[in-house]
Amino acid sequence: MRSAVEARAAIEAAYRARTARSAAFHEEARRLIPGGVTRSVAFYEPYPFCVEHGRGCRLEDLDGNRYLDHLSNFGSIIHGHAHPAIVAAIGEQAARGTDFGAPNEPQLALAREIARRVPSVERLRFATSGTEANLYAIRAARAFTGKPKLLKMEGSYHGGYDAVSVSVDPGADAPDFPHGKVGTRGLPPEVLANTLVAPFNDLERTARIIREHRDELAAVIVEAVTVRGMIAADAAFLRGLRDVAREAGVLLILDEVVTFRLARGGAQERVGVRPDLTTFGKVIGGGLPVGAFGGRADVMDGFDVAQRAPLHHSGTFAGNAAVAAAGLATLSLLTGEEIARLNALGDRLRTGLRVALETAGVRAQVTGMGSLVGLHLTAHPVTDYRSSLAANREAMRWLHLALLNRGIFARAAGAFFLSTAMRDAEVEETTAAFGGALEDVRPMLEARAG
Ligand code: PMP
Repeated sequence: MRSAVEARAAIEAAYRARTARSAAFHEEARRLIPGGVTRSVAFYEPYPFCVEHGRGCRLEDLDGNRYLDHLSNFGSIIHGHAHPAIVAAIGEQAARGTDFGAPNEPQLALAREIARRVPSVERLRFATSGTEANLYAIRAARAFTGKPKLLKMEGSYHGGYDAVSVSVDPGADAPDFPHGKVGTRGLPPEVLANTLVAPFNDLERTARIIREHRDELAAVIVEAVTVRGMIAADAAFLRGLRDVAREAGVLLILDEVVTFRLARGGAQERVGVRPDLTTFGKVIGGGLPVGAFGGRADVMDGFDVAQRAPLHHSGTFAGNAAVAAAGLATLSLLTGEEIARLNALGDRLRTGLRVALETAGVRAQVTGMGSLVGLHLTAHPVTDYRSSLAANREAMRWLHLALLNRGIFARAAGAFFLSTAMRDAEVEETTAAFGGALEDVRPMLEARAG
């Protein structure tokens, strides 16, 4: 029988043999770009493949290998790459100018389309990333409530800025709630004083934290599916949070940067929750950089420049017309029927992965909601960050590489973001490759189980 060491060596050798040009590219790139990637999450060992182009749900790398793209740029590419209608929309707007520093019709059209779909959005402004959208939503909540602190969930990622870079992946030695752990070096110490942390899906403890800190808490920010880990919130958790926050005078911010794809009206429609503020990103920009934040008129009107002391919101690229045109084209393709088909495809993928795991005799958790699918290599149920720590992350890393060798590009940590460019055939292709990749990593799983 192969040992775990042999299995790892075989997977890495196969990857290196297929991707010589990507290896050379990586060596070149890292002389100028730290780590060879300009976004830390894009790196995995031994080096990431370099994309030559994408079309539909397929990517091709510099060596001519083709991959079925289950990353979809972490969910932003919902209709596949280079969709003709989106390419045309960008081209048409680009030919008329992309950015003006002045109001323009595509901005209002996209804002209207989002507000039409999401009734809690009474007012909306654009930003250029989900990070920025969260930053401004949190600023608005602080200004509206006159309180300084933020409550976030352990294991949730809300972007790269300081206030939310707390307890994103704190590991097993995380401090007791509501204390957090900094997620990166380079943060000022007061970040920990202003950002409190609660356990996802645990309404009782989260409610207690909110009530205890109500006099200093401006907002609680939460996702309907924690995208790191693809762990779905119980509807009762989100609804309970809604009520507790309201009673405590704390605003509820729902981060729908990724989960907006789950229903015409986003996850809030699916779960039946009306947040005070919602943040958006990813699909509303059709593959171009975007963010948006919106919600209650009385909170958002703080940004109205006619007010005596309006909130500051800026951004050279906020409301870029080409982005808005791409977003509109994307949303017009994202009908209720397409969303239902995409979510059903996600259910099929979850079933297919479970069958493959069972056939291979590997115990794991397949998580997520609709077109967002997660995988955790553990026999124990995963309902929050701490339970996800039982998973064998090291084996997942190798499983990811083994999947690449078999032409499947998923998130290295074990996640799949489906696109409407996929059909049943692509799901079958994925589960067949997954079955093979499980055999590739089997010695690592057995080594751990034993
Ligand atoms: N919120 C969530 C839930 C996210 O997953 C992300 C990014 N993947 C962000 C916010 C940040 O968005 P961006 O990368 O556009 O800044």
